[in-house]
Amino acid sequence: MFETLQMAPPDAILGLTEAFKADSNPAKINLSVGVYQNGQGVTPILDSVKQAERRLIDSETSKGYLGIDGLPAYAARVRELLFGADHEILTAARAATVQTPGGTGALRVAADFVVESYPDARIWCSKPTWANHPNIFKAAGLEVKQYSYLNAEGIGLDFEGMLRDLSEAKVGDVICLHACCHNPTGVDPTPEQWAKIGDLVQEKGLLPLVDFAYQGFGDGLTSDAAGLLELARPNAELLVCSSFSKNFSLYGERVGALTVVASDTNSAQAVLSHMKARVRSNYSNPPRHGASIVAEILGCAELRQLWEQEVDEMRGRIKQMRSQFVAAMKERKGDQDFSFIDRQRGMFSFSGLTPLQVDELRKRYSIYIVGSGRINVAGMTEKNLPTLCDAIAAVL
Ligand code: PMP
Repeated sequence: MFETLQMAPPDAILGLTEAFKADSNPAKINLSVGVYQNGQGVTPILDSVKQAERRLIDSETSKGYLGIDGLPAYAARVRELLFGADHEILTAARAATVQTPGGTGALRVAADFVVESYPDARIWCSKPTWANHPNIFKAAGLEVKQYSYLNAEGIGLDFEGMLRDLSEAKVGDVICLHACCHNPTGVDPTPEQWAKIGDLVQEKGLLPLVDFAYQGFGDGLTSDAAGLLELARPNAELLVCSSFSKNFSLYGERVGALTVVASDTNSAQAVLSHMKARVRSNYSNPPRHGASIVAEILGCAELRQLWEQEVDEMRGRIKQMRSQFVAAMKERKGDQDFSFIDRQRGMFSFSGLTPLQVDELRKRYSIYIVGSGRINVAGMTEKNLPTLCDAIAAVL
């Protein structure tokens, strides 16, 4: 059976990392993959995480299976992080959470739930969106529709286009929204635009699926939830996919969560029961270690304070790199305006580099960027910035 099978195409982004690893140029730079790196170009283990792990080693008594929906303490902390402990959604107990393997796991369980319970629903994704969104949704059997997102200049939001496209959504369709730090563009709606999105969702009877993979990487842990809170209106129904890969730097531990917000407790519990059925037939129950770390940190005032400082540091470094990049490009190419990079949020930006320029950067300078021109700003360091900007100026 296998002899006639053709190779599947490599993953567009992870394939580049393999090529990067194989590149022998000591000056090589990788801006393709979506992981945070510190000023030394290292993806660190946070101090708060190390301390939580030490405590777990001392206190853990079993590696037995978790329940299908994971650790109850973790689920409670996730909901508090999303909405704030005093939010009406929590006091009314109209949300429920399943712990998932990463944000990807949350997206897949959400999609499986929608397909099983609402077979006519379609999902609307921004154009562009994270490349794995359509993969995940299609694999679950959802029809994927697109709404406009980037304006013609490729550096800001085409909000009118977005509303125009979404006016074609049907009652019960799902709309996938990036809570903050839109991947791949770095362009987020303003508070006023979020309010209009909330109105549209309500008027058209859509189900928002909010992908929250970068909480704390935009403007701060609380401010980054402003868009989500705008959607969290009385009686509103929502699905929220959390990923703690970035803000806890726990990538390989696969820590995520899917939270449903329903109009009342019974409906939330009914949705939870269906989600658990989808989990059971997929991976049975989630991994224990990463979620225990997050629950430990969020549940302890001292560790939480340390973690918040570490998130602030990561965000601060990314913002600094954005400003330094804009200044360095201005020195080299004064006629070309890169100031939009400074206005965008999170790890990613669309650089405006063409596929041809991206190709040249890789071949001539060992600089790895995704073909769309998306750059991971967190891959920049004070050390590699001059080399990077010289090369970009040369290919422009
Ligand atoms: N959503 C978005 C927008 C992402 O960028 C990512 C990670 N690149 C994810 C979800 C998935 O995160 P995880 O690694 O936790 O599965």
